[in-house]
Amino acid sequence: MARSSFQTSEFVRRSNKILVCVRLHKMTVRTRIAPSPTGSPHVGTAYMALFNLAFARKHGGKMILRIEDTDQSRSTKESEDAILSSLKWLGLCWDEGPDCGGEFGPYRQSERIEIYKEAIQKLVDAGYAYPCFCTAERLNEVRKRQIENKETPRYDGHCLSLSKEEIEQKMQAGEKYVYRLKIPDEGACEFEDELRGKVSIEWSQVDHQIIQKSDGFPTYHLASVVDDYHMKISHVIRGEEWINSTPKHILLYEGFGWKPPSFAHLPLLRNPDKSKLSKRKNPTSIDYYKDAGFIPEAVVNYLGMMGYTLPDQREIFDLEEMSESFDIKRMSLGGPIFDIAKLKWLNGRYLREKLSPDEVLQRMLAWKANPEFLGKILPLALQRLETLSDFFPLAQFLLNDAPEYTIDALAGKLEPGIPAKLLKIAEWELEKISSWDRESLSSLFQKIAETEELKLKQILSPFFVAISGSTVSLPLFDSLALLGPDLARTRIRIALEKLAVEGVGLSKKGLKKLEKEYAQKYGNRID
Ligand code: GLU
Repeated sequence: MARSSFQTSEFVRRSNKILVCVRLHKMTVRTRIAPSPTGSPHVGTAYMALFNLAFARKHGGKMILRIEDTDQSRSTKESEDAILSSLKWLGLCWDEGPDCGGEFGPYRQSERIEIYKEAIQKLVDAGYAYPCFCTAERLNEVRKRQIENKETPRYDGHCLSLSKEEIEQKMQAGEKYVYRLKIPDEGACEFEDELRGKVSIEWSQVDHQIIQKSDGFPTYHLASVVDDYHMKISHVIRGEEWINSTPKHILLYEGFGWKPPSFAHLPLLRNPDKSKLSKRKNPTSIDYYKDAGFIPEAVVNYLGMMGYTLPDQREIFDLEEMSESFDIKRMSLGGPIFDIAKLKWLNGRYLREKLSPDEVLQRMLAWKANPEFLGKILPLALQRLETLSDFFPLAQFLLNDAPEYTIDALAGKLEPGIPAKLLKIAEWELEKISSWDRESLSSLFQKIAETEELKLKQILSPFFVAISGSTVSLPLFDSLALLGPDLARTRIRIALEKLAVEGVGLSKKGLKKLEKEYAQKYGNRID
């Protein structure tokens, strides 16, 4: 593939008020994906990885994987490992990253803290950043007033008026502070988006962003700009939710005296109701698709066809074919709908058209039809076997995507409203669980039973049905452990949807009430 060079950006201050970012120089293409390891590996991450890769490949460049784990309270190593392995499963591989290293490492932000501290000092010296000592109470008041006056809620610049001496005094007295980015009072920031053309955002719409938190950790904005620069990223290709943050980033580049990269903001994947793709409405974890028996080539193809059409309109294509003809300007700007039915249709075509029967068999064996997986089910089923042929009907719910059942079976003998309540609480609790094994699952349900003052047996009946399709089935906690978090959570969500369709689910009001009750009784916030 020909190595082509690309233009990158330069600043021109058109006047005092307008900061314009235009492209001037030539450089080698380097793209990046920068997932935050705060949960299951998201299909949105795979979507960004695919387009970053296609773009880098098309131009003979490289794609970097950087772990953005500056939010220490939410980042976990398990999530990082899961993101890396699911992207590898999809075949969306990076050239530099925390696992394989590279010239510009470390590639994990928590290992780069000193770099950010130095950078913030530079910004303070250049007059682009300032310390802010405002308390949460004061910030709340300002916000309230601004909302009342129908203004955009943003920091009012109060601490900008502090003198050097006052700042020193406060720091010495041990007052807590953050660093904020100093946003111009008036004018606008203009930049070129590779997909959308010229974008102009008024500075009055941009907040004085916190760039270093009171714990000394940088926020996303600062860390990602510093890293994109040091990692020589030429093109930042990311989700459109970051478009309004781009002026802050461009201002940071100016503060550092660095040339900014090119920007392209891709439309976000959407639920069928057009809302942003969310786990409450759709399985969003890549692991779900793996566990539910999809094959990686079909998932990648589907992600590709959601944002891009090949020049010859063909529907079946792989990363290589996509990269060959990739032109970011041809990406569609409409929010692509993630439609599982369409993905299933495409997956079926792959099984029939792209793989031989023997290859399909090999895939099945590697998936769940293997002695290891079946061997874990067997001890659970043994008690109930008379003949070998009894095994598969009993085990089928651990092998299929989702079981069939009636609403009466799901509602069981519990009072109306109770199954939905229990399923919802379990859905929230299961999101907080740190290890997905029999013991943790058992104590989680024990806790729900105790808190709800019901017998364990009583509360489990809707779960038996939601998970296995039947009230009589293999032991529940072992089954959940074997099924894995993504399939299990999806089945609970489906059960809740079924109850809602039948009018015995949670109303909007009921859900609000339950959220409050849950926060009180279980002492947890809901994400
Ligand atoms: N850590 C950010 C995220 O997970 C990355 C955004 C970006 O690509 O700049 O959304």
